[in-house]
Amino acid sequence: MQAPSAKAALTDFRDRLGAATESVLLVDYDGTLAPFQTERDQAYPYPGVVPILESILQCGRTRVIVITGRPIRELQTLFRPSNSLEVWGAHGMEHKLADGTYQQTAIAPGTAAILAQAEKWLIAAGLASLAEIKPGGIAIHWRGLPDVEIERMQARAREGWAAFAEEPGLKLLNFETGLELRVAHPDKGDVVAAILEDLDPHAPIAFFGDDLTDEDAFRVLGDRGLSVLVRPEYRETRAKVWLKPPHELIVFFEQWLNSISA
Ligand SMILES: [Mg+2]
Repeated sequence: MQAPSAKAALTDFRDRLGAATESVLLVDYDGTLAPFQTERDQAYPYPGVVPILESILQCGRTRVIVITGRPIRELQTLFRPSNSLEVWGAHGMEHKLADGTYQQTAIAPGTAAILAQAEKWLIAAGLASLAEIKPGGIAIHWRGLPDVEIERMQARAREGWAAFAEEPGLKLLNFETGLELRVAHPDKGDVVAAILEDLDPHAPIAFFGDDLTDEDAFRVLGDRGLSVLVRPEYRETRAKVWLKPPHELIVFFEQWLNSISA
């Protein structure tokens, strides 16, 4: 259930937005700005999302930053606002600034070698068709498969990857429609920490996300900003506020725009 304080938190945040010269809108992509699709390469944004974010950007008072588990090149085929955006991809392994500057975090050679072994195991297990090789990790996606098949696949992958996941510097990441073996850091919480480090401590900042990997971001943001769970159904979360996509999310973005345009 939505806490009664949520409405007050939203109102308070909008008031602060109106008074601030600088603010930051951090947003996840899949499940937050775009509905889940069985075909991952068809996950285009909800109608209305791109224009409202473009208007917020054009106002010049809010930095809009997308923080996604997808590699940046993959995101760019789906989400192309006319203004260039700052994006953190692959859970923070990749960073592209609005001016196009791109950086990728290097992985320790030992960690890369273990990831290569984990990939070999996947191929041998016949799971390669479900796998996605990303900077710093390998994801298995089972979106769209029958439940019984998912259970079988999940058990198999967990067993096969258990030893790799125990290696220092790696972790097994659960997300709602798959499993990912990846570097323990950076995660979305590390990205939020990096952004906060360079930000005026009074600038309003909010993070919008849907998945278990977004909880790291909610945790790091803590009381410093507004954390928003964007999801059709409520679940246990560290986020302060829950909004249902796409309508409630778009309405809140419109209110954001009004606050900074006033
Ligand atoms: Mg998501």
